[in-house]
Amino acid sequence: LPICSVAFLPLVRQGQLMGCLVLGSHDPERFSPALSTDFLARLAAIAGVCLENVFNHERLKRLGLTDALTGVHNRRYFDQRLDEEITRSDRQGSMLGGLFLDIDFFKRINDTFGHDSGDVVLKNTALRVRELLRSSDCAARFGGEEFIILLKETPVDAAMAMAEAVRARIAGVPFDSVGHVSASFGVATWDHKEDSHALIKRADTALYKAKSSGRNCVVQAEDAA
Ligand code: GH3
Ligand code: MG
Ligand code: MG
Repeated sequence: LPICSVAFLPLVRQGQLMGCLVLGSHDPERFSPALSTDFLARLAAIAGVCLENVFNHERLKRLGLTDALTGVHNRRYFDQRLDEEITRSDRQGSMLGGLFLDIDFFKRINDTFGHDSGDVVLKNTALRVRELLRSSDCAARFGGEEFIILLKETPVDAAMAMAEAVRARIAGVPFDSVGHVSASFGVATWDHKEDSHALIKRADTALYKAKSSGRNCVVQAEDAA
């Protein structure tokens, strides 16, 4: 049966058009200009409120999982995502790369140029990381000047190459008003046996080695025991 009459109900909240509810009928007389629209207008108003609630709920959820300064995910999101990615990798038998990034001598940047300039370095570091990642990867601020990056379906040499690309991108282009900044990296790939903490621990130990061997470099973690 064809649709013979329709009603378009704009969903408006606080002067903003959010969408449109469309009703259709096989009866050509069901929706006609002559018909009173009170009921439909009420329906649209209620649907508008519902939609607005959903938007607000989603926005709050996203805010709660995002780091306000850098715009990358926060630790809470990361912890959740890591468990999901480990489960997925296990199911698919795929590799999962983990990168730990720590900005070198960041305290000195704060001390020399001020905390605000330090904040700008954090923001721009996050930006440079994001520019290099695929949309399926996940970057999060782990703490102060430390970031963690999850690379889906990525074997260790590709994870090392990505870390090296991010390192070069940070060290290669001076940052506005503070000049040269570098970062050190620890890289580990999940071995399908250890838990998420062990993966982070191995990447962190590799990062520590990168720091002690002169900074501005990438170190691959030892295989899991
Ligand atoms: P290393 O090369 O060994 O990593 O030295 P570092 O100075 O980078 O490391 P350290 O842990 O000594 O200092 C980290 C500093 O980061 C200390 C802290 O005040 C600063 N920091 C943490 N969070 C923020 C932030 O949100 N904004 C700014 N501007 N500084 C922050
Ligand atoms: Mg640190
Ligand atoms: Mg540091």
